Amino acid sequence: MHYQPQKDLLQNRIILVTGASDGIGREAALTYARHGAHVILLGRNEEKLHDVIRTIHDEGGHAARGYILDLLTCTPESCQALAQRIAADYPRLDGVLHNAGLLGEVCPMDQQTPAIWQQVMQVNVNGTFFLTQALLPLLLQSDSGSLVFTSSSVGRQGRANWGAYAASKFATEGMMQVLAEEYQSRHLRVNCINPGGTRTKMRASAFPGEDPNKLKTPADIMPLYLWLMGDDSRRKTGMTFDAQPGRKPGISQ
Ligand code: NDP
Repeated sequence: MHYQPQKDLLQNRIILVTGASDGIGREAALTYARHGAHVILLGRNEEKLHDVIRTIHDEGGHAARGYILDLLTCTPESCQALAQRIAADYPRLDGVLHNAGLLGEVCPMDQQTPAIWQQVMQVNVNGTFFLTQALLPLLLQSDSGSLVFTSSSVGRQGRANWGAYAASKFATEGMMQVLAEEYQSRHLRVNCINPGGTRTKMRASAFPGEDPNKLKTPADIMPLYLWLMGDDSRRKTGMTFDAQPGRKPGISQ
């Protein structure tokens, strides 16, 4: 995407990022902070979150806060409790990037381990839904809220061996469409990003033989992540966007 965001695009915006400890989520948190946002980081690893908070501080960004939430074990109640803690610290949320995700097993459906299937659905779908439900009241306090889910090309077109991950990303697209329609008259837009093959640990575990240098980095795909959180996308809702348009889906390059 050729998008030249203003340096202060996200000034005074309060943006929460899940899976902010690594990969694309880490880069999104740093990028939002560089564009003026107050960033809230969610993750399961305190040390990694602190490292991101320190980096934002060292770069001169607004003070960021981290909250621990393991999507694998979270419940509706723990998500509500977390939302209450956030509400005690912040008046509203202007953006939520649901980025945390679990790959699970890349193998044929008849070999997918049921327990791992359930973990993928818990992290990518159920936990993400519990958290969304808990955060909606804070998002509705914004006069221009943006709720962004993270999809995948295999969440639009099923492909052999992508099992629970593909099913969970189809569910993510569905959740986005339902919410977009429910909130279309309420100052809250809801969209999906498909990052496309990106140089992260998840990508490396899905394609161990691939040369990572042939892949875009998380930093390369940030223009779309910025556009969806800023006012330039204000009228877009119920849509799914590719951070790397034209890229072949679900295969090693
Ligand atoms: P990474 O594996 O690099 O990062 C995943 C992030 O999710 C980490 O911050 C990780 O935390 C967090 N996470 C994983 N499990 C949990 C959990 N149980 N509770 C809380 N946080 C958790 O992945 P990517 O950056 O590559 O992926 C980001 C998103 O983009 C995912 O939704 C993925 O499906 C999607 N995507 C990625 C593509 C790619 O090529 N990279 C392509 C298409 C979609 P921790 O640091 O503790 O491990």
